[in-house]
Amino acid sequence: MNKNFLKNPYYLVAGLFVVVSFLVFLLYIIFQYEKNIEKDMFTIATTDVLHITQNKADHITKILRYSDDYINDIKKDTQLQKRLEMQLKNLITPNIKYAYLLYKDRKNTFRFLVDGSEEKAMIDQKLDITSDKWFELYETKLPVIIKHTYLQKLSLSYLVPVLYKEEVKLVLVIDFSIDKLQKINEIIIMMKSGLFFILGIVFLLFIVFLIQFIRYKRMKQQSFTDRLTNVYNRNYLHEIEDTVNLDEYMIAALDIDYFKNVNDTYGHDVGDIILREVGNILLHTIRVEEDIVVRYGGEEFVIFIKNKSENSDTSLSVIQRVFSNIKEHKMFINEEDYIYITVSIGVNKTPSSSKNFLEAFKLADIALYEAKESGRDTIKIYGEN
Ligand code: GH3
Ligand code: MG
Ligand code: MG
Repeated sequence: MNKNFLKNPYYLVAGLFVVVSFLVFLLYIIFQYEKNIEKDMFTIATTDVLHITQNKADHITKILRYSDDYINDIKKDTQLQKRLEMQLKNLITPNIKYAYLLYKDRKNTFRFLVDGSEEKAMIDQKLDITSDKWFELYETKLPVIIKHTYLQKLSLSYLVPVLYKEEVKLVLVIDFSIDKLQKINEIIIMMKSGLFFILGIVFLLFIVFLIQFIRYKRMKQQSFTDRLTNVYNRNYLHEIEDTVNLDEYMIAALDIDYFKNVNDTYGHDVGDIILREVGNILLHTIRVEEDIVVRYGGEEFVIFIKNKSENSDTSLSVIQRVFSNIKEHKMFINEEDYIYITVSIGVNKTPSSSKNFLEAFKLADIALYEAKESGRDTIKIYGEN
C-alpha cells in the first residue's frame, strides 16, 4: 500500500484534489465570516441611531398635534418650520449628514418639506428615490431601512413614517454612514489574498501533476504497444501474464506461413508492410474491449479471446474470423500488385486447466506446431485432432 502510494499517481491526484477542496472551503468560511462581521457592525452601529430617530419622529408628531393638515400647515407657518428644523438639526452628527422631512405629492413624487441638513434642500424640491420601499412604508406604516452598498462604508437611509389618524402624512429620513473598521478590513483582505495565492500555487501544482500523470500514462501505453503493428508487445504480456484470469479466455497462437519467403521475394520493407496489415486486421477483427492481441515474436501473435458464454463456439468463431479475414485480404506489395498470405493458428480452449499462462501458452503452441506440420493454412485445437 505504501509503495503504491508513491507509485500510483491516482493517490497523489486525489490528495491534491482534497487539498484544493479544503482551501476553497477555507475561503468560503472567510467570506462568510466577513459577511457576519459586517452584519454585526451594522447592528452595533445603527441600533442607537434608529432608536433616536424613532423618538424624534414621535416628538415631531407631538409638535404637530394641533394640525389636521401637516403639509399645508408647515408650508404656511415659518415659525413651525423653524421649530421642526431645529429638531432635525439635533439629529445631525458626523455620521448623520442628512435629516429631513418629506411628503408625497399627488403624482407620487417625494418632495422636501423641512431640512435639518447643512446643505439644505429648498421646500418642495424633488427627491429622486431608488427603491420601492419608499412606497411600501405607506402601506405598512412601519420604519424602513434602505442599505446602500459602498466598498469602504456602511451606509443606510432610515425612513420613519409620521402619521396623522393612522395615515402616513410625512416621512422622516436620515442618511447614516460610517467607515468600515479599517483594521478588520485589512486583515480580511490579507487572509483572502494569502489564500488565493496558496490556492493558485496548489492549483498550478495540480495542473502540472495532471500533465505529468497523463504523460506517464501515455508513456506506459507506448511502452506496451508494438510500433510496427500497433498491437500489444511482449512487455504487456509480461505485465499481465501473472494477473490475467485464464478462466475468462481462450488462447490462440498465430504464425504467418512462409513469411521468410515474403521477405526473400519482395524485401524486408514489404514484409513490414504485411506485418502492419496483419496487425490491422487483428485489431479490427477482435472485440476491442474484451480480446487482447500481443505480438510476441517476429511474425507470431498470441490472442486472448474472452469467453462470453458457456458455449466456446463464440470464441472460436472470433478465431475463425481472424483466420479468414487475413486469408482473404489483398496484401498490396506496391500500388498495383498484391499477394495473399495465410496463417496457422493453434488454440488452447481451456487455459484455466494449466497452472499458469506460460503452461497454457505452451499447449496453444503445440497445436500451432501441429497446424504447421499438417501443411499450414489451418486452425488446430489442442487435444482435438
Ligand atoms: P513458417 O510457415 O514455418 O512459419 O515459415 P516462416 O518463413 O514464416 O518462418 P520462419 O520462422 O522461418 O521465418 C520467420 C521470418 O519472419 C524470418 C524473419 O526474417 C521474418 N521476420 C521476423 N520479424 C520480422 C519483421 O519485423 N519484419 C520483417 N519484414 N520480417 C520479419
Ligand atoms: Mg515464426
Ligand atoms: Mg512463420
